[in-house]
Amino acid sequence: MNTKRNPSVLIIGAGATGMLSAIRLRDAGITDITIIEKADRVGGTWRDNTYPGVACDIPSHHYCYSFEPAPWSHQCAVGSDLQNYMEHVGKKYGVTETVRFNEVVTSCVYDDQGKWTVTTDKDAVFVVDFVIAATGILHHPKYPDIPGLDDFAGDSWHTAKWNHDVNLTDKRIGVIGTGSTSHQVVPELVNAGHDVTVFQRTPQWVFPFPNLKFPEWMRNRWKAKPSRTKPWKWFFKTFIEQFFVKATVGAPVQNAILKFSVKSYLRLGVRDKVLRAKLTPDYGVGCKRLVVNFTFYPAIQKPNVDLITDGIEGIEPEGVRTKDGKLHKLDVLVLSTGFHNFNYMRPMNVVGRAGHTIEDSWGEGRFRTSHAILMENFPNYFLMLGPGTPIGNNSVIGMAEEQIDYVLQLIDIWREERADEIEPTPQAVAAFADYIKAGLEGSVWVGGCQSWYQDVDGIPAIFPYPWSDFVKSMEAVDTSELTMRKLQNEEIARAV
Ligand code: NAP
Repeated sequence: MNTKRNPSVLIIGAGATGMLSAIRLRDAGITDITIIEKADRVGGTWRDNTYPGVACDIPSHHYCYSFEPAPWSHQCAVGSDLQNYMEHVGKKYGVTETVRFNEVVTSCVYDDQGKWTVTTDKDAVFVVDFVIAATGILHHPKYPDIPGLDDFAGDSWHTAKWNHDVNLTDKRIGVIGTGSTSHQVVPELVNAGHDVTVFQRTPQWVFPFPNLKFPEWMRNRWKAKPSRTKPWKWFFKTFIEQFFVKATVGAPVQNAILKFSVKSYLRLGVRDKVLRAKLTPDYGVGCKRLVVNFTFYPAIQKPNVDLITDGIEGIEPEGVRTKDGKLHKLDVLVLSTGFHNFNYMRPMNVVGRAGHTIEDSWGEGRFRTSHAILMENFPNYFLMLGPGTPIGNNSVIGMAEEQIDYVLQLIDIWREERADEIEPTPQAVAAFADYIKAGLEGSVWVGGCQSWYQDVDGIPAIFPYPWSDFVKSMEAVDTSELTMRKLQNEEIARAV
């Protein structure tokens, strides 16, 4: 007989990590699961981002659940394929039917008795044993603080909220920003023949990686027998872990190859010296998140596009005025200006033990976690892809698969009645911060740039070690890093 307790778990978010959490919890025999999703569909990032050219830049066979291979059409999946995949997984594994859609979690308050009270904007209240915040990282669009933004007379939108109702034919389109998103959207606009003006504040290093289409016969073989995708997954996974991840965390040979690749690509890919100088970053390769792309350099050299590097003075009804005094007249202004990094569960009100708030712990942006999952004073509350996850050089789905197994070990402590409250010790949180800091020395992320990885002190909240170290760190929970409390209230114990 299974005598383990059956906890109630509330998952915030039905994106890639929220769905994964639900599937894995259920596999582990946990049946009391509530999933709350602010939007009307599963999919997270791939539901929100529908801009032209949207695609993942991690190879598709590696950017998918290990238990659900797919007959991908491209080496790097395009956005709509990823969204279809997420919806397929949601249906196949019975997640979608259980999600409460169009409902926003507004607060999570811990009662010091082993329970979280979670409230939504529909005034629903859930009292649960565990909360998993699968809220994603980059999902709150960042609008630039440029004077006059609201005065623009044409149509304007953020890339994460693409307005598909506007016909772009014969429109002069401006794009502000040159991050990974812009590198995907600009070529689509330019190649469609539009008149495009790109406003660049900081150039980016670009790793050349063509997005090849897999032939139909190959896809048919994968459809007939999905396990045939395994060698592809192995190949891309090995390539990323042995080359890309190691290059970013400072392995000398891989790092030299990476630098050589991006610098040669810029030299050979952009022949005009003036344009090349404009596109050449003055910081280390990989410090900002590397752009992985093969279409931007060819597109930016076409006659129907201008790359503007003079700073923006302001936005006026007719267009964008740059600091050299020139007005760039536009009909449409696209803001490819990124996201509020590390918002995580905010702006939700999260109050932990003894009234501690997230702001008490993190302030304006000093992230403190243990293993990127646990926060001191927030017992039985787990982050997926929290600060300190190896984001930025590998598949977030792979990271989430490792993390949810760790979370399940934590929940098992509760299920086996070894504790009712689980949180990290202050020493474990401090040790994790020191560990991250020590690893950053020699990594590409301290290469003299500003990036969305960095906290308010400029410290990248990222796991700066090889992938194998991350996997090892997730293998077994070290209970000496935990404060585990037993509570007197016997009501919380519910045997199944
Ligand atoms: P981003 O990398 O943060 O880029 C934002 C761009 O907007 C930067 O060029 C930034 O310039 C510029 N910008 C912001 N505020 C500005 C202002 N006030 N005036 C002028 N320029 C301004 O955002 P993103 O391109 O959306 O990408 C974010 C992340 O999403 C990526 O790093 C990547 O991890 C992920 N992503 C992944 C894929 C994929 O294929 N997997 C695709 C797209 C995005 P500065 O550099 O000077 O700040």
